[in-house]
Amino acid sequence: MPAMKVLFATSELAPWVKTGGLADVAAALPDAVHAKGIDARILVPSYPALKAAFPNAPMVAAIPPLTGHLYGAAVREARTTSGVTLYLLECDAFFDRPGNPYLGPDGHDWPDNGLRFGLLSRVAALLSDDYSPLDWRPDILHCSDWQTGLGPVFLRHRPYSVGKVARTVITIHNLAFQGLFGRDLKPALGLPAHAWSMHGVEYHGYLSFLKGGLQYADAITTVSPTYAREIQTEAEGMGMDALLRERAGVLTGILNGIDMEAWNPATDGHIAAHFDAKQLTSKATNTRALREEMGLAADTTRPLIGIVSRLTHQKGLDLVPSLLYWLATEAYPLPAQFAVLGSGDKGLEAAYRELEARFPGQFAVRFRFDEGLAHRIEAGSDMFLMPSRFEPCGLNQMYSLRYGTPPIVRATGGLADTVVDASHGKHGTGFVFQHATVEALHETFHRAIAAWHDHKGFAALQRRAMSADFSWDAPANAYIDLYRRLLS
Ligand code: ADP
Repeated sequence: MPAMKVLFATSELAPWVKTGGLADVAAALPDAVHAKGIDARILVPSYPALKAAFPNAPMVAAIPPLTGHLYGAAVREARTTSGVTLYLLECDAFFDRPGNPYLGPDGHDWPDNGLRFGLLSRVAALLSDDYSPLDWRPDILHCSDWQTGLGPVFLRHRPYSVGKVARTVITIHNLAFQGLFGRDLKPALGLPAHAWSMHGVEYHGYLSFLKGGLQYADAITTVSPTYAREIQTEAEGMGMDALLRERAGVLTGILNGIDMEAWNPATDGHIAAHFDAKQLTSKATNTRALREEMGLAADTTRPLIGIVSRLTHQKGLDLVPSLLYWLATEAYPLPAQFAVLGSGDKGLEAAYRELEARFPGQFAVRFRFDEGLAHRIEAGSDMFLMPSRFEPCGLNQMYSLRYGTPPIVRATGGLADTVVDASHGKHGTGFVFQHATVEALHETFHRAIAAWHDHKGFAALQRRAMSADFSWDAPANAYIDLYRRLLS
């Protein structure tokens, strides 16, 4: 039987272009299904980082201008080290821009993002159609987020072809980003008139890329089972809940995996001392090193709490200053130390800078993107804090579990699916609270500190955390099952 063929269309791809979890999944999932015999290929814009990585990629197709606004493009072919074929969509007027794939140097969205990702979506559909200029045709087109959301729409509304087209999947990595544009974009993208309705791509007078994908894809997935349920509620559905409830029959949550090689405390090249569940004592060497690196007091009588995150409201990190000022009224020095790595919201950065000044040697923060320090915080912290308001999947809590750093998390999305509260005895792996309030966080925080002081019980908790398997094996099987069901 010939291998099943899957085309992944994505606007980000690790390690070359990354703004969040999408880039990691866009690289890891094709790898994982490819290793299981699927002919997986990736369509991604040819940004400067990809041009530099594959300077000699041959052109395999020319795409003529599809409308007066969608410039002509080329498809170049390259191959990753793991053997997955890349189709690089080259259109320099749209994609030959350095830095963040969505934002200009002024920090604002590029004004032509609708055209840029409209082109990506249209080409994804074209390559999945019997009019494709390639001689390879996928059985499944797998899109992700709003940037490729129009792929299923164009495939459904293809003007001429009558032959077999691919079945479609769209994965929601974060429902907060929906790709809303003015209706004038409709003719510029060549969207057929009948796609414009409240049962199509229209969202309150605007054109919504994501809604189009959710409306027309044969299957919808998101990155954790709990998030799949949450987004069907009015409170967390970001305006898409009614549509998602309507399509609940084709919506599933499949938890992301993590890169178990890159995040392995027994081999990690970024950390001071290697350790595993049997040899946990070496973890203390990392804790000592982290205190020193961050300028924290060499005080082993209290736990060190790590945070690595975008500093945003979504991540609940505005609760941390309130928590610390509350703790300071109860005891001084604070009952725990904090090592924070992250950047984002300028107001939050200012609040964290103030905490560092107010609690010297107890609270330390670095505002930058630093892969090595992220690893050292996971390895050196005693516990990891992730009080997210919503969290489609989340990766850091899984890294924490793997590094024997029990996470303190809010029960939402992927956090609820990966962390079991310590009160569940021999199943417990961390500390979970329900409400995004400083009161709930404060109560759970004290519970966690008390648990840390019980050294024997805490070591057992750490070992249980480290035994969880978050490899891509199970998620890859779940996606392959889904593809099979769509084709049967
Ligand atoms: P999201 O995609 O919502 O930002 P995730 O937890 O799914 O959150 O993934 C975030 C990824 O980015 C993780 O791999 C995390 O370690 C990494 N990360 C976030 N901020 C930083 C930072 N300042 N330095 C290094 N890595 C970071």
